[in-house]
Amino acid sequence: MKNKQFLLKSRPVGKPTRDNWDYVVNDVAELSDNQLLIRIDYISLDPAMRGWMNEGKSYIEPVQLGAVMRAGTVGQVLKSTDKNFAEGDYVYGHCGVQQYAVVSTQGMHKIDPALAPIERYLGVLGMPGMTAYFGLLETGLPKAGETVVVSGAAGAVGTVVGQIAKIKGCKVIGIAGGADKCAYLVNELGFDGAIDYKSENIKKSLKELCPKGVDVYFDNVGGDILDDVLTQIRMKARIVICGAISQYNNTTAVKGPANYLSLLVNRAKMEGIVVFDNAANYGKAVAEMAGWIAQGKLKAKEHIVTGFDNFPEALLMLFDGENTGKLVLKVEA
Ligand code: NAP
Repeated sequence: MKNKQFLLKSRPVGKPTRDNWDYVVNDVAELSDNQLLIRIDYISLDPAMRGWMNEGKSYIEPVQLGAVMRAGTVGQVLKSTDKNFAEGDYVYGHCGVQQYAVVSTQGMHKIDPALAPIERYLGVLGMPGMTAYFGLLETGLPKAGETVVVSGAAGAVGTVVGQIAKIKGCKVIGIAGGADKCAYLVNELGFDGAIDYKSENIKKSLKELCPKGVDVYFDNVGGDILDDVLTQIRMKARIVICGAISQYNNTTAVKGPANYLSLLVNRAKMEGIVVFDNAANYGKAVAEMAGWIAQGKLKAKEHIVTGFDNFPEALLMLFDGENTGKLVLKVEA
């Protein structure tokens, strides 16, 4: 059995290119004890993958040169040497950018295809959904009647943050790139307003849409947008530092917020989050989110690109703003 794989060939400077990848076809390995052979159906494309390509210390080890690129995946068990997993089970895990994986069962989680389409376990019911749920509810601490602003609002994490904030009775404003994404947030997801950062003056629009100021800012993008929102926060505001996609392909130093003294003036808090810290409680969150989906309160949206070989270009869609909702790669047509 042959297995197509993308290996990390070199560490990118700026945006990754095809030259940073080795596209190889290898034989699938034989199974030893407590292992699974998995056919990978969907590969998660995440902004964090750009960080994993860099050398150096982070919240997780970098991908080694020559290794299969790390990625979240869902797929079906074709063979099992572990009595807890049967042929035909569907599983989530980090199996990497390849068609098949032979992996230890540690870190593999069964998913229920009857509860939701399997690709949803990479989105709302997976890592981005958990990021939104715990980041907003446990760090943002939104209260009914407060104003929540989220950037990267039309993406995997942002769409869920805004919808959960609405469920909790907040006023929600999204910041996203382009009129279509802004219309989607307001008309489809029920946000109270949206700001197109590509054509609007963010400070001015925030003043108009949030006349009392911002209580919770969920930051997915960093850079200038974070700096602008800092000028509009309210007393005791909470700023959730989830990500800084505007900075991930920088070839110069990360741009930090010049307006941080607004935290002092407003006795506000800025706190970073890493989704994996909540792993023990994912089950509870998945159950609640699945309930909200069933009740029509939470809409899930996956943006599916088909064809394993398209991986390098599909990954770049995140940095070019070409996705709405959760970007996933479908391995075969
Ligand atoms: P996503 O929002 O689905 O996709 C990325 C989006 O970022 C793009 O569609 C684009 O939308 C926007 N973007 C790209 N370049 C930008 C720029 N220069 N300025 C402003 N916006 C830009 O991605 P996601 O998976 O939901 O991730 C969102 C953020 O959460 C990322 O920063 C990611 O690293 C972070 N994250 C953190 C954790 C954690 O544990 N801390 C976990 C998951 C994700 P526009 O068209 O609107 O520009």
